Amino acid sequence: MKQIALLGATGSIGTSTLEVMRAYPEAFRLVSFSFHRNLTAARAIIQEFQPEYVAAGTESDAAILSQEFPAIQVGVGVAGLEAASVLPAVDVVLTAVSGSVGLLPTLAAIKAGKDIALANKETLVMAGEWVMAAVKAAGVTLLPVDSEHSAIFQCLQGETQNLDRLVITASGGSFRDLSREDLTQVTLTQALAHPNWSMGKKITIDSSTMMNKGLEVIEAHWLFGVDYDKIDVVLHRESIIHSLIQLRDGAFLAQLGPSDMREPIQYALTYPDRWPIEHAKPFELAQLGQLHFEPMSMTRFPMLALAYEVGKKGGAYPTVYNAANEIAAQAFMDGKISYLAIEAAVTQAVAAFHEEVTTLERVIEVDQETRQQVTAWIEGGKL
Ligand code: NDP
Ligand code: MG
Repeated sequence: MKQIALLGATGSIGTSTLEVMRAYPEAFRLVSFSFHRNLTAARAIIQEFQPEYVAAGTESDAAILSQEFPAIQVGVGVAGLEAASVLPAVDVVLTAVSGSVGLLPTLAAIKAGKDIALANKETLVMAGEWVMAAVKAAGVTLLPVDSEHSAIFQCLQGETQNLDRLVITASGGSFRDLSREDLTQVTLTQALAHPNWSMGKKITIDSSTMMNKGLEVIEAHWLFGVDYDKIDVVLHRESIIHSLIQLRDGAFLAQLGPSDMREPIQYALTYPDRWPIEHAKPFELAQLGQLHFEPMSMTRFPMLALAYEVGKKGGAYPTVYNAANEIAAQAFMDGKISYLAIEAAVTQAVAAFHEEVTTLERVIEVDQETRQQVTAWIEGGKL
């Protein structure tokens, strides 16, 4: 029986994780979970899974749950996320909150000797150096949930010593067929219509700006210890090949599958074993016919080019890149700025940053400072 803490249980990844757990009730137990705003979903999860601990987003929701479920411990905010992660019964923490809030509880879990299944890409983008060092020091395993990284990890089994290059696939997102000129006109509804995947809103926006792919390149650098010059991104419209590796003799290995996050989630939870998944639509290669590959244009998708730049600079540059995007993407979703202002915010924030950062404490401060700065730009109508 694997005992699981699920951070972000009410989200897209959280919901898919609960589906995986529901399919194998004898193998998984939900010890604790967190939610942010969705009290209704949290209540249903408590009733179904009977956890020991719940971390709520607000004091008022925590008070409601304490009253309704007196047998369950309830916490709030980042302290609640950390407490949910380090409970003695927990074997694995699956981090599926969105945004930089995932970092501290994941680090706390690593230090408490918990294995990590990581969906939250911001954790490695902001603090890859410190997180990977903590994983090593604690002797825990950190397994990827993000589909591209899971694909690479699956291809790497038995091949680590032969690895030459990573090839990450990108669907191109909802605006892949639009020119930069067309982008001045786009709406939130259009941005949220991803061609292949059903995901949380923020990551769907990030897929269209290619911020998501940028974050994934940085995440891959830390997870697999590969230089940025050895990480390629290729446009692959069908999202059938989730990513590839190239070995030193030139051979490519790819992992293929349906666009269903239950696969990488379950693999991270059952690794090195593989268990069946009941798919609504079975995956038929012959039905697919063709797969397409195109080069990624760095001028069409400047956020991808910027990811390589901030990744190579290291320190807090990736944090600035991520934090500016988190604020700007949210402002776009709230109707406060235009679509192209997301890119402007990220570009401007990175250009304004000139500091060599060597401590995690400072990285966390830079995250906050960038948020404040971009918020001020938005409120001052500067974007
Ligand atoms: P969702 O927006 O669907 O869910 C986010 C989850 O985090 C919800 O449970 C939400 O709670 C909670 N949450 C949001 N803000 C906060 C906060 N400030 N503090 C604490 N909890 C918070 O996101 P996804 O499931 O799509 O993505 C989660 C993470 O996984 C992201 O980092 C994303 O990049 C990554 N990822 C997602 C993939 C996908 O297919 N969706 C694929 C690969 C990676 P509530 O809903 O209760 O408000
Ligand atoms: Mg991905």
